[in-house]
Amino acid sequence: MDPKKWIDINTESFQYSLDHFVIPDHYEDALSSVLIPHGVIMDRVEKLAKLIVQESTGPLVVCCVLKGGHQFFADLVNYIKKNVTRGGKTVPLSLEFIKVKSYSNETSGDVKLSLTEEECKEFSGKNILIVEDIIDTGKTMVQLLSKLKKYSPESVKVASLLVKKTPLSNGYIPDYVGFAIPNAFVVGYALDYNEYFRDLDHICVINEHGKEKYAT
Ligand code: 5GP
Repeated sequence: MDPKKWIDINTESFQYSLDHFVIPDHYEDALSSVLIPHGVIMDRVEKLAKLIVQESTGPLVVCCVLKGGHQFFADLVNYIKKNVTRGGKTVPLSLEFIKVKSYSNETSGDVKLSLTEEECKEFSGKNILIVEDIIDTGKTMVQLLSKLKKYSPESVKVASLLVKKTPLSNGYIPDYVGFAIPNAFVVGYALDYNEYFRDLDHICVINEHGKEKYAT
């Protein structure tokens, strides 16, 4: 992966002790470390928004992949609104939401998308920016892109806050990436483990006790 296009987080040097950050009491025993503090996430999202606006050629349909992408989407849209293109113009935005469910506990299952035929037809001729929380194997995004491309959008780009460095990757790399992370299960900043941890601001690594405590 190209280290110039994202921040490469390497396990040994980038894990912070939980003691150095404010962690909700109800999650403290379920986490092993802070991987990306909230402030660093926000600074990186600000930069991604700037790049997106500089490279945009017209109105954007910003498409949130629910539920894990919602926090990244909200912060990214806020920063996009504050930026102007190289030509000094603001970018008109419309917002769309897609629900995708692919995981139970930690295992990848079948990908289910919530788009109806009518909703998909709305994408025709538009510039779409898909906003996703994390690319793991890449399976979900490849399926989503192939579905959307059938509806003739003008362009489709993908922004993912995280890309996991996993041997199971299908090689898919998004257009905009915040951080490349180690092959661990992460939670927080709207990323969940069986619906828990969305209410945690930092991106953290869940521990074995947490996986047992919050298993379905
Ligand atoms: P993929 O299809 O790329 O394997 O998986 C993408 C989806 O899996 C993401 O949208 C996310 O919902 C889920 N996922 C993959 N890895 C993680 C992880 O480390 N933490 C969380 N919370 N979800 C993950």
